[in-house]
Amino acid sequence: MQDKEPITRALIIGAGIAGMQAALDIANSGYEVVLVDKLPSIGGRMAQLSETFPTLDCAQCILTPRTVEVGHHDRIKLVTYSEVEEVAGQVGDFRVRIRRHPAYVNWDACTGCGLCQEKCPKRVVSDFERGLGRRKAIYTLSPQAVPNRPVLDRESCLHFQGDRCRVCEKVCPVGAIDLEQEGNTIEERAGCIVMATGYDLYSMDRLGEYGHGDLANVIDGLAFERMLSASGPTAGKILRPSDGAEPKEVVFVQCAGSRDPELGVPYCSKICCMSTAKHAMLYKHRVPDGQAYVFYIDVRSAGKHYEEFVVRTVEENRTIYLRGKVSRVFEEGDKVAVWGVDTLSDRQVEISADLVVLATPMIPGGGTVQLAKMLGLHADEAGFLSEFDASMQPVETLRAGVFMAGACVGPKDIPETVAQASGAAAKVLSTFARWGKVAEGEAAARAEDL
Ligand SMILES: Cc1cc2nc3c(=O)[nH]c(=O)nc-3n(C[C@H](O)[C@H](O)[C@H](O)COP(=O)(O)OP(=O)(O)OC[C@H]3O[C@@H](n4cnc5c(N)ncnc54)[C@H](O)[C@@H]3O)c2cc1C
Repeated sequence: MQDKEPITRALIIGAGIAGMQAALDIANSGYEVVLVDKLPSIGGRMAQLSETFPTLDCAQCILTPRTVEVGHHDRIKLVTYSEVEEVAGQVGDFRVRIRRHPAYVNWDACTGCGLCQEKCPKRVVSDFERGLGRRKAIYTLSPQAVPNRPVLDRESCLHFQGDRCRVCEKVCPVGAIDLEQEGNTIEERAGCIVMATGYDLYSMDRLGEYGHGDLANVIDGLAFERMLSASGPTAGKILRPSDGAEPKEVVFVQCAGSRDPELGVPYCSKICCMSTAKHAMLYKHRVPDGQAYVFYIDVRSAGKHYEEFVVRTVEENRTIYLRGKVSRVFEEGDKVAVWGVDTLSDRQVEISADLVVLATPMIPGGGTVQLAKMLGLHADEAGFLSEFDASMQPVETLRAGVFMAGACVGPKDIPETVAQASGAAAKVLSTFARWGKVAEGEAAARAEDL
């Protein structure tokens, strides 16, 4: 460690529930935190969820108090729409260069009134809505966004594409639009770093037997979450993407890509048995006369009250669980044909479905591997971050002063993510406390010398 006094300030990369929990634990203990996210607002994937298993809490209702607390915290500096470019130094004094992407909006002047979004004439497909909804070229991720400041997407903005449109600039009541804005870099210093870059879902394009992502009525689990969400593109109604009709037969496919070494995903994605049971249950809540089918290899519902939740899905919601793999999914008229095998009865199964929902695997969040290289951390073959000691030091990395939490370490649900984030925060706090004790000891020794 360096001779100078170490810096008791933490930098966290990723502001999903893991990064936010770690930030709050550290900041509420009296230390400063810099919280970086590549997206314009915080909350991560949890902001896309509808209700959470096993309690069926409204995700937004339990997330929003956290995002608001983080957003207003005196000791948390939010650096969103930004990415870490370089990390120099060492434990006690990391120097982190961060690239801030241009939002083309002066966030200090902006009041978040939303007029620019309302009047913007250009609509594009929204990633946040998993392709089921649209957003404007100038946008916030969701109505509950923290910070509630828009960004302008240069690739879709008419002005940047050569048109004369400057509508956002004209309607902004406080002159906050800045079409000449450029990105910049800032440097932040921190004694410890926490990695919390979360997960993405495996792309459906690579799943040939399920139609390569080309079939309108075959969607992934996060798209179904958006459909279930009251603030989502269908206002919580279950509607077929192709024609807006209410689907009466829905097939849910577990392990759609997971546990398949040939696809590079030999591991179990861990949350899908529960998220699928939740999807089947919530589908029946929305469409009581509908029928849900679940194809599964086996049901892994280890967790407090998890098994009971799956049993409710089967018994109370009359979901038909079929043990077996799906061999092919293809369009047949306005239906989706699902061919599979029921290995318990040893029979071929063919279902003419209105909608198919694939539980695709969790993979490490974009940029995790590059960040790992930059920081000198190890990642496994799938790209998830490796522990210093998976049994005894599960939130420590091979690099002193760098900790990790959440789905960037491996697939996990929210309770496990939150617990691990508090574990990482505790490691940061104990490191700071140790430095404090050393400093106290040195001061006492100096006082004795006088
Ligand atoms: C379909 C589905 C349904 C689910 N339902 C439930 C449920 O009901 N109950 C439950 O307990 N769990 C559920 N989960 C799991 C839950 O989503 C995760 O446990 C949780 O979101 C993990 O949080 P995280 O903070 O680790 O990651 P994330 O939520 O992915 O957050 C990571 C953050 O890091 C940011 N980031 C990524 N890369 C970078 C980078 N390079 N630089 C800066 N920032 C970066 C991202 O923008 C994001 O904000 C579900 C998952 C799926 C797929």
